[in-house]
Amino acid sequence: GTADLDCDLLVLGGGPGGYSAAFRAADLGLKVVVVERYATLGGVCLNVGCIPSKALLHVAAVMDEVAHLGDLGVDFGKPVVNVDKLRGHKEKVIAKLTGGLAAMAKMRKVTIVRGYGAFVGANHVEVEETSGTAQEKTGSKKVIAFKRAIIAAGSQAVRLPFMPNDPRVVDSTGALALKEVPKRMLILGGGIIGLEMGTVYSTLGARLDVVEMLDGLMQGADRDLVKIWQKMNAPRFDNIMLKTKTVAAEATPEGIKVTFAPAEEGVKVPEPQIYDLVLQAVGRTPNGKKIAADKAGVAVTDRGFINVDIQMRTNVPHIFAIGDIVGQPMLAHKAVHEAHVAAEVIAGELQGNKELAAAAFNARVIPSVAYTDPEVAWVGLTEDQAKAQGIKVKKGLFPWNASGRAIANGRDEGVTKLLFDDSPEAHGHGKILGGGMVGTHAGDMIGEVALAIEMGADAIDIGKTIHPHPTLGESIGMAAEVAHGSCTDVP
Ligand code: FAD
Repeated sequence: GTADLDCDLLVLGGGPGGYSAAFRAADLGLKVVVVERYATLGGVCLNVGCIPSKALLHVAAVMDEVAHLGDLGVDFGKPVVNVDKLRGHKEKVIAKLTGGLAAMAKMRKVTIVRGYGAFVGANHVEVEETSGTAQEKTGSKKVIAFKRAIIAAGSQAVRLPFMPNDPRVVDSTGALALKEVPKRMLILGGGIIGLEMGTVYSTLGARLDVVEMLDGLMQGADRDLVKIWQKMNAPRFDNIMLKTKTVAAEATPEGIKVTFAPAEEGVKVPEPQIYDLVLQAVGRTPNGKKIAADKAGVAVTDRGFINVDIQMRTNVPHIFAIGDIVGQPMLAHKAVHEAHVAAEVIAGELQGNKELAAAAFNARVIPSVAYTDPEVAWVGLTEDQAKAQGIKVKKGLFPWNASGRAIANGRDEGVTKLLFDDSPEAHGHGKILGGGMVGTHAGDMIGEVALAIEMGADAIDIGKTIHPHPTLGESIGMAAEVAHGSCTDVP
C-alpha cells in the first residue's frame, strides 16, 4: 500500500556480504533491492579495506624487493615517491572494481537505492537518500516493502574516546587516504590491519612504533610464525610496546603526544611520545545499533552484533544477517559465503525449493592472512591452540631454507607447517586439522590447506599429491611428508 518500492528481497548494505547476497538472489530469480549509503557498491572491503590496502602493499613489497636487489648485483638507486600518483593508482584500482560491481548489478536488474536505511516495521525499510561524496542527505525519503531482508550493514573502526579530533589521528580509512608520509607514526593495536598499514607507511619512509595491550603482535597466528615475521620487520620499528595501554593523547603543534601505561604489573613503558601520525587500529565495531533493528523485532547484542543460526537467520524468521555484523572473524570471504547461504535459503523458501531452502553455513575453517612482508597465513587449528586445548597433533614443519624456489627468490626465511590429528583414534593416519605459513605469497597458498581440511585429507593424500617444482607451494607437500615421516630432500 504505502511503499514506494517493493521487492522479494531487500539487502541492507552493499559490501561483499550485501552485493554477493543480492547477486546470488537475483541469479536465482528474485526481485532484489540493495540499500547502500555510499555512491559505490563494495563496502569497506573494496572502497576502504582489502583492496586499496593491497594496492598499496603491492607497491611497498616491490619497493622492498628492489631495495635488496643491490645485494644480488642490480642497483636501482634511491626510490622517489610521488604520493599523489600512488594515491591515484589506488583510486583507479577501486574504480575499476566498483565499476565492475555496478555493471554486474545492472546486468542482473538489481535495484540500488542510495541512502541510509533503517527499519520502520517488520516488512518495511525507510531510506533517507544521499548524494555526493560526503553522503549528504538529499531530504527525500523512500519506503521499501520486502518479503525477506538480509542485514549486511558491516562494521566500522573503533575510536578511542580520548583521542583528539585532529587530522594527524586516523583510522584505517584515513591511513588509506594517504595524504602524506609522516616521519614518526604510532600504530595503536598490533593486529593485521594496523601492521599492514604500518608496512606501507614504513616502506614509504615512516619510522614506526606499535602499542599492543596483549603479549604479542598478530594475535591468532602461531607465535613461531609471527617470530619470523617480527625478525624480518624489526628494522621498521623504533619501539614495539607489548602489554601496554594508550591512556591519553593530546594534539600539540609538534605532533600528537601520546601517553602509555602498563597493561600488566611490571611492564616498563616509555615516557609520552610525539608522533606525526597516529593510526587507530584497535578493532572494529558492528553497525547493528544504527539500523533501528528493534522496529523489525530483530535482536541486537549490547556490542551491536546480530546473532544468527547456521542459515544466517535472525530471531525474526524472514530477516537474515551476514558479514561483519554477525561476528568474528570480520573477513570478506566469510561475508561472501554467508551471503550465498542466506540468498539460497530465501530463494528456496519463496520458490518452494526444498534443497535450496536447506542451505547452511557449515564451513569447517575460515583462513586468515596478514598481507605483510613476509605474509603470515593460517587456517584451522593452530599449534598454540592445540597446545592450549590439549589436542594431540603430529606436526610437519618445512623450513623454506630447504626450498629451491625460496632460495632462488632470495626469500628463504619462510616456514610451512601442517598439523595432523594424532589422537589414538586416528591410528597414525590422522586428518589434517590446520596449517600455517610465513613467507612471501603465503596468502596465495593457504587455500590449498583449507581445501585439504574441508576434504578431510591426511598426510599421505597431501604428500603424494604432485606439486610443481620449483614452487613455494611445494612446501605444503613437503610439510605433509615430514609429518608422515617419509621426507626426501627436494632442494
Ligand atoms: P561492509 O564491507 O562493512 O559493508 C557494509 C556496507 O553497508 C557499507 O558499504 C555501508 O556503507 C553500508 N551500510 C551500513 N549501514 C547502512 C545503512 N544504515 N544504510 C545504508 N547502507 C549502510 N577482509 C579480508 O577478508 N581480507 C582483507 O585483506 C581485508 N583487509 C581489510 C583492510 C582494512 C583496512 C579493513 C578496514 C578491513 C579489511 N578486511 C579484510 C575486512 C573486510 O573489509 C570486511 O570483513 C568486509 O568488508 C565485511 O563485509 P560486509 O559486507 O559485512 O560489510
